[in-house]
Amino acid sequence: GQREPTNLNTLIEESLRLAYQGLRTKDKDFNAELITQLDPALPPMSVVPQDLSRVLINLFTNAFHAAQQRQRRHAGPGYQPALTVSSRVVAQQVEISIRDNGTGMSDKVKAKIFQPFFTTKPVGEGTGLGLSMSHEIVTKGHGGTLTVESREGEGTEFVISLPG
Ligand code: ADP
Ligand code: MG
Repeated sequence: GQREPTNLNTLIEESLRLAYQGLRTKDKDFNAELITQLDPALPPMSVVPQDLSRVLINLFTNAFHAAQQRQRRHAGPGYQPALTVSSRVVAQQVEISIRDNGTGMSDKVKAKIFQPFFTTKPVGEGTGLGLSMSHEIVTKGHGGTLTVESREGEGTEFVISLPG
């Protein structure tokens, strides 16, 4: 794919819709609160839209899976799956944050998530390629960074930073 000037907010909204619909066709009872905080002043960014969309869909899908899993494990009342995505300009960079209130992950898991084929999902459900591919696209493909913070039992935040 070729780089082209892209409205990242539109790409985020389209990717979020695709990921959420994709999950809900398999699990009609899954409902998540979707919170979007998109900076309207975001400049058009020179990216490969198909590649970046794939990254976003991967991160959204992982976030929904983590929330779904938390809901299944602790099927108590009062838990509402939620996903927050935000975009903003910070010091010549554009940052996209994707935060979920799912299972979170241990430090041991977190240390391996960018390795190809690493997955904690049952055989047939996860390839373990989503995050390694996403990391490649963001770093090698766009000169950016993909970072993660997570707390077991609380949730996870991935941040994509792209040079302006
Ligand atoms: P897959 O989704 O096929 O397992 P990924 O590369 O997308 O492969 O993710 C690797 C692993 O990272 C997942 O199996 C899961 O253990 C962990 N992971 C990724 N995203 C999240 C998240 N948002 N919350 C908790 N764990 C996550
Ligand atoms: Mg995945």
